Amino acid sequence: MNYQKILNTISSEVSCKNSTGKVASYIPELAKIEAEKFGMHLYCVNSGHYGFGDHQERFSIQSISKVFALTLTMSLLDDELFKRVDVEPSGDPFNSLVQLEYEQGIPRNPFINAGALVISDILISHLANPKKDFLEFIHDITDNNTIIINPKVFQSEKKYSHRNAALLNLMKSFGNIKNDIEIVLDFYIYQCAIEMSCMEIATAFMIYVNGGKKMTTNKSILSHHKVKRINAIMQTCGFYDEAGEFSFRVGLPGKSGVGGGIAAVHPGQYAVTVWSPPLNPKGNSELGMYALERLTTLTGLSIF
Ligand code: GLN
Repeated sequence: MNYQKILNTISSEVSCKNSTGKVASYIPELAKIEAEKFGMHLYCVNSGHYGFGDHQERFSIQSISKVFALTLTMSLLDDELFKRVDVEPSGDPFNSLVQLEYEQGIPRNPFINAGALVISDILISHLANPKKDFLEFIHDITDNNTIIINPKVFQSEKKYSHRNAALLNLMKSFGNIKNDIEIVLDFYIYQCAIEMSCMEIATAFMIYVNGGKKMTTNKSILSHHKVKRINAIMQTCGFYDEAGEFSFRVGLPGKSGVGGGIAAVHPGQYAVTVWSPPLNPKGNSELGMYALERLTTLTGLSIF
């Protein structure tokens, strides 16, 4: 497979397309990103790295961090975790409150904000230094200890986190948040403020391609069985109320973030990350979805 040729085709197709999406502005610092940024990086198990555009520039990973948080949590805990967070698609926006009331404070899945906040709460209970340990986990799976948070994005989201605070308060009233709300919110916003490039995210996502093992050292981060589960949750819940559409058009497990990034995997084949800040009305990168749809069409390599 000539991946570089296919990526070059996608690059020229994308350069002719005008996005109708909008850069996220509810976190004011994210609104400052240039809408024209575009990067794409593919890491193939057999043949290594391919990329184009701004694929080596770091951006705010936002909700892509939810996959790393779930991975770290699943490396520490077994099935008891799923008593506090379910694994069903929500069909609702990422920051929705409505289902939580009906479902007694148990979030539908770990990739909507409510579920990710429960995961943050669990990590705080299990890690000695949650922020440091989380960042070290990212350093481990990427073999890159220069990855850090953007303090401006962190401060900016802290000022506008009323919905996430509401989710935490509601879940706390049902007994599903054990730690102090301010501490959980602070840790959650911290993990979302991490910055990575498409290349770095694709490198991290190789553990979901390679049965839970790092490509570089073959060190096992998570069992094959648990990786299968994470990929299943990405497939069914990675794009909120657009998970069906992403499966339909792209056909890969993946996860988006409001920074405009999307990471996706083809187990056994490749990890791919795309970055384009303008978001569609569901909060997913508009051109990013298009580029990934073209990738699986031109390569014939989706999981379906
Ligand atoms: N930090 C963001 C929030 O909680 C993450 C949302 C996202 O990327 N979908 O609103």
